[in-house]
Amino acid sequence: RCGDPGTEFGSMNTEFFNAATQKENGTNVCGRIIRAGGLVAFPTETVYGLGANGLDGCAVEKIFAAKGRPGDNPLILHIAKKSDLKQLWKHVPDKARQLADAFWPGPLTMVYLKSDIVPPQVTAGLSTVAVRMPEHKTALALIRAAGVPIAAPSANLSGKPSPTCAQHVLDDLDGCIDAIIDGGDCRVGVESTVLSLVGTPTVLRPGGVTREMLESVIGHVDIAHAVLNPLKNGETAASPGMKYKHYAPRAEMTIFSGEREKVKLAMAEEKMRRAAQGQKVEVIVYDDADPQTAAHDFFARLRACDKKGVVVILAAALKEDGIGFAVMNRMFKSAGYNIREV
Ligand code: AMP
Ligand code: MG
Repeated sequence: RCGDPGTEFGSMNTEFFNAATQKENGTNVCGRIIRAGGLVAFPTETVYGLGANGLDGCAVEKIFAAKGRPGDNPLILHIAKKSDLKQLWKHVPDKARQLADAFWPGPLTMVYLKSDIVPPQVTAGLSTVAVRMPEHKTALALIRAAGVPIAAPSANLSGKPSPTCAQHVLDDLDGCIDAIIDGGDCRVGVESTVLSLVGTPTVLRPGGVTREMLESVIGHVDIAHAVLNPLKNGETAASPGMKYKHYAPRAEMTIFSGEREKVKLAMAEEKMRRAAQGQKVEVIVYDDADPQTAAHDFFARLRACDKKGVVVILAAALKEDGIGFAVMNRMFKSAGYNIREV
């Protein structure tokens, strides 16, 4: 049983470290905090993570409390070297070895049967565990300093857009976590690809490592149905995270899908109609040819809309190619699958 955290929620002093100016000092202090059972938010190349000692079930429980995360949604364990994988899994399948050689460090998370040292709090009771080796220097330094795998989901309040800079984390969690390391903006901007290697390799969440990239190494990869579709009534989620409201701005959001010129016209008309009703409207259109920029910007844009008091967001669908597929997965969830075909 885990003890009472003692401190009232939101009343902690969250220590702030700058990765550029306080390099080793920051990661060393924060590594000690993690080993001692505390919570540290840290930058990765995907989004900011909220980390705890991944071998300490009680420390991991604090992540769920701080985020308000549903208890059945498992976390990802972050490691600093590929060889740490074998202690966390029952055994390492060949395909995982090949993928780790191709894409680690980087935005790929792999799910496989867990070993006995992984506490049930990390996996929400599942027999599998998700593992990733991030590429961000500060993340790697922190994991090394902690000397244990770091369990970390995104460092946002559950349901809100993921944080892509330190200020986003503070907006959600200041006073609820022990420390944060500020490493500037995240390079990728959407969370890692989650790939299950139990049975046919299946993408549970698209991300920076695309289906094409995975298939170039291990051959055919399935995409879980719920990646681009709402869960049907009675459908079992391949990944518990698929069940929950995600990345949601406060505004009502509509995605316009179809030929680009028609989409722009329909959005302009809808904007006028809404603005005439006195509603504050934001229009989001990314260049189809540059999904990287869309990935980098999208969550920050949703958070900026909340700050400005936007009540209606109209967004143009992107091509589902490359990382555009990951952006569309996030966009559909943000909009609660409110899509208008034009
Ligand atoms: P986050 O990075 O905050 O979005 O959380 C991790 C994501 O990985 C969630 O969508 C989880 O549902 C998913 N995940 C973690 N562990 C597993 C697992 N063992 N099986 C399936 N999905 C998982
Ligand atoms: Mg998350």
